[in-house]
Amino acid sequence: MEYYSTHINKLIEQLSHLPGIGAKSAQRLAFHIMNMPVEQVQQLTGAITNARENVRYCKNCFTLTDSDMCPICSNPNRDAGTIMVVENTRDLAAYEKTGRYEGVYHVLHGAISPMLGVGPDDIRLKELMQRLQKQDVKEVIIATNSSLEGETTAMYISKLIKPTGIRVSRIASGVPVGGDLEYIDEVTLLRALEGRVELK
Ligand code: ZN
Repeated sequence: MEYYSTHINKLIEQLSHLPGIGAKSAQRLAFHIMNMPVEQVQQLTGAITNARENVRYCKNCFTLTDSDMCPICSNPNRDAGTIMVVENTRDLAAYEKTGRYEGVYHVLHGAISPMLGVGPDDIRLKELMQRLQKQDVKEVIIATNSSLEGETTAMYISKLIKPTGIRVSRIASGVPVGGDLEYIDEVTLLRALEGRVELK
């Protein structure tokens, strides 16, 4: 890798830290960037810095948003008594795209995984429990992925919530096992939501 510019090598190294970008892709992207007009490169780096510095967590549901409270939590037409628990903001976006869910969300930012050393305290679970104490909630719909981690998380949450008397349900298993919610089509998502079962 010492055949060309140190600057390019640094860029390749930084790019290769991104998920899904291997050494080859990083190299390809770096040379692509070298051929881009300088203004376009500035727009790209500006967008990255801006997003990182200005996007924050909604103080209610913890999704990524531009203001203290996200547009969903601040919308009076949404049913604040129904909370759908998802693993990340991308999953939230997948359900929002269906345009049929009228409740609000809670974003965990991860799932419990003993294998990866991710415990209940590493995701936004405490915040969910605090929310349930403060707000009048009728139902919590657990929409974590159907992976091992997602199922472990769902079970853990339902055990925590059960004693509060709030109804807990799990989206139906129309969702392929191990499938990330964001890649599933809207019809399947809606079917999973409508066919949700109460956890006893
Ligand atoms: Zn919110």
